[in-house]
This record gives sequence, structure tokens and C-alpha cells, in this order.
Amino acid sequence: MKILFHICCSNCAVYPVKLTRAEGHDFTGFWYNPNIHPPEEYQLRLDSLKKLSDDWRINMLYLDEYRPEDFFDMLSIKSPLPVAMLRSNGNPAPLFKRRELFPPLSKGDEGGFSSMTPTFPERCKSCYSLRLERTAATASKEGFDAFSTTLLISPYQDFDQISITGKLLAEKYKISFYLKDFRPHFRESKCLAKELSLYRQRYCGCIFSKLEREQAIKERELKKFHG
Ligand code: SF4
Repeated sequence: MKILFHICCSNCAVYPVKLTRAEGHDFTGFWYNPNIHPPEEYQLRLDSLKKLSDDWRINMLYLDEYRPEDFFDMLSIKSPLPVAMLRSNGNPAPLFKRRELFPPLSKGDEGGFSSMTPTFPERCKSCYSLRLERTAATASKEGFDAFSTTLLISPYQDFDQISITGKLLAEKYKISFYLKDFRPHFRESKCLAKELSLYRQRYCGCIFSKLEREQAIKERELKKFHG
């Protein structure tokens, strides 16, 4: 079967490539992750995938569009930064302090973070739809038998929601959704990625996941400080 696999990052791709090939399928990767924040991080992940695809001779289609504003449109919220600052015409944008993203609302919520962040997993529904719709449409147009996503390997993602989104898009584009629970092999994929010296990211991707990580670090430090 000819499968077009949306690839969220090189780390998550390693095991699905290996397994899909072992099963005798024809694997083609599809890069489309327009909402990774900031652009420097987007580029690091893209470069890492290019390294993997070169090393493992993976057929790839790259939709190298950096358009985080499409994600905010899907969420029906205003971008927390002017679009030009988010995108910076594809060039690395300056890193912004959280205070500049979300003005303080009150003492103890200096970043305005808790009240302004669309929460997981609600925001992820839109993110899955955005990325998988382009994958399904491309797979259908380019004559693939099926489409899928490497997001299915991550225990941090909402597997059921990805399945629902994939199945709905399969109906819409009259193409199969290749659904496989790769999650038991997440650790193996990470170990392989480490051996291959691939870039390892510290947060899922969007601006909110980055802020959540920063918030978690800050809370851990405060806890340590206060005992
Ligand atoms: S946390 Fe990850 S899956 Fe969820 S919206 Fe952000 S980038 Fe998308």
C-alpha cells in the first residue's frame, strides 16, 4: 500500500518508518507543521527530518509553509503576537518573553497564562484537523492509497481524537486512513532517534505548549525553593 505519512518530527517518525517498511508498505513522508513556535524551532525540527530522510532514504514531500496564523484561525482566537512578528517572513523571529505575549492580568498570573491559553486537548483537535486535512488532500491528489500520521506514536497526544479526525477526513477525501497504535514503541523510537543524533525537542510544538513547559519548569523551581 502507498501511504502518505504526515510527520510531526523526526523522533516520532523513526519507528513508524521502520515498521511500515517491514510490513511491505511504500512509505512517503509529508512535512506540514505550520504552527511550531518559534521559527527557529520549526527550522531545527525540519532540518532534523531532512537528516533522517537522507540517512534512511525516505521519500519526502515538504509543504514548508510557516503560517502559525492558520492555527489561530482554526481556534477562532486572535494571534497572541502580530502575524509579522510570528512569521518574520520565514526568517528567524526574535524570541519573545512571555510577558510580551500575554500581558499580566493579576499578581500571581504574571504571564496571564492560565486564563488565556486554549487548553489541551481542545486546542489539539484544531491542530490535528489543520495538519491532517492537508495530508489527506495531498494523498488523494497524488494518488496514494492511504494517509496517516506519526502523531499516533506519542503517548502525549490524544490518540482517540487523532483516530476520529483521520476517519472523518478519510470519508471526505475518499481515501483510507492507516490507523495503527504505535504508542507501545514510543521509547524505542526515542532511543533510535538518540542513536541517530536527531534533534530532540522539549515541547509539543505550538506557542501554548512552549508556554506550558516554561510554566511547569517555573512551578517546579518554586516548589523546590519553598520545599
Ligand atoms: S500541544 Fe501539540 S498537538 Fe496540541 S495544539 Fe499544540 S502543537 Fe498541536
